Amino acid sequence: MPAMTRQVSNWFLFLCLMATLAALFLLPALAAQAAQSPPSATLVKAGRLLDPRTGNVLAPVAILVEGNKIKQVGSPSQISAPGGVKVIDLGSATLLPGLIDGHTHLFLDIIVSNETEQDRHANGLFAPGMLLAIVESPSKRVLMAAQLAREDLESGITTVRNLGHSGIDGDTELRDAINAGRVPGPRILASGRKLITRGIYVQNLNPALADAILQQEFLLIAGVDRAREAVRQNEFQNVDVIKVSADENLTVPELAAVVEEAHRQHLKVAVHAVDTASIQTAIDASADSIEHGNEATDAQLKQMHEKGIFFDLTPTFYGGGYLKIAEPIIVIPPATRAERARSAERRKQNYDDLVQRVLKSGAKFSTGSDMCWFYPGKTRGQASTATFVHLREAGMPALDVIRAVTINAAEMLGWADRIGVVEAGKLADLVAVAGDPISEITELERVRFVMKDGKVIRNDFASNGGATR
Ligand SMILES: [Zn+2]
Repeated sequence: MPAMTRQVSNWFLFLCLMATLAALFLLPALAAQAAQSPPSATLVKAGRLLDPRTGNVLAPVAILVEGNKIKQVGSPSQISAPGGVKVIDLGSATLLPGLIDGHTHLFLDIIVSNETEQDRHANGLFAPGMLLAIVESPSKRVLMAAQLAREDLESGITTVRNLGHSGIDGDTELRDAINAGRVPGPRILASGRKLITRGIYVQNLNPALADAILQQEFLLIAGVDRAREAVRQNEFQNVDVIKVSADENLTVPELAAVVEEAHRQHLKVAVHAVDTASIQTAIDASADSIEHGNEATDAQLKQMHEKGIFFDLTPTFYGGGYLKIAEPIIVIPPATRAERARSAERRKQNYDDLVQRVLKSGAKFSTGSDMCWFYPGKTRGQASTATFVHLREAGMPALDVIRAVTINAAEMLGWADRIGVVEAGKLADLVAVAGDPISEITELERVRFVMKDGKVIRNDFASNGGATR
């Protein structure tokens, strides 16, 4: 090799060595510096901020967001935003905390079956939709759930509690995928498999296959030991909450064992209980929340108040909601339609009465959409937020409806230290609507700005803002 070439070659080797050293020492140092640099800051300005705790309105308002948290809230002149902050001006819009759906089913999208089929199956509405959800491909199911999760978020639902019907690990895996930024969606509190006694769901299955099918969706309780074991199985799956369905087969000692075991791991227990006897089982076992609760008596509401048990109202089918979902899909014979309309009216009167009694009792309350239906013409988010107005129609003041889907829901979930209000230190989950949600609660169905964890998900007011100052 000629001397000149060797010199060039040595020089080249030296450069390579320096580049390697730079890669080894300098780049990690730069990366560390980047990690230490302050998180990105955003200043959100709007005409009004509604505080669900007090009903007070701050107008105008500015909210400084740093990283995924709220740093400051005040009138624009009070906020000291750093230079280079990104400004989002929402004009005259009203800001609220991100909405919380306390009871949903992202892994169900049941298509209403025709009336004849419902009449001829012992399981009514749940066959065949419920069965199909279990026996179809879990991969197909989780991709559908990812879509429904995104649709919830786009409608301003920044947190959901997914209470069962998601296969063995669907909701815990979707939660983790969303948290890792792989797919967009709300923050999920996942219950994993629902604890049930044999006999509630999907009865009349082929006996040779029944256990294999049921185990895909449920953990069967039979006795106190099995109840504890079921909780531990869900804990192994890293769930956030335990969901139990109470019926006449579930005993107080079984449910009390579930509650004790769950509380040992700091998990709350949500109990599906519709009839008076099941509600009493849930109260006696000191559940954390009672889901649905349609037949609660005044004496039971008093006990719930005294024990601090949440009443999670699910007015999904209030005021003929079933017909709204079913009519675009199935032919309903006129006589059946008339009977359904009559029973909807009866149920509406009962629900108006229930909502008034819950408010009077002082029991803690929240609400959940319990949405598990394919709702023609609506995204899952639109279908879910469309249930909130039912509480208003049942006589609940608008501010209490807003509390039910923000601050109250946050407390029910055990997340009051992180979500549910807009104040310094909380996670930066914000939504904005164009009008005044107190005078028109359906504004919650038309959320036009969504921020979750400090990231803008949606901004229909974008023409007004986004400038850097
Ligand atoms: Zn449900």
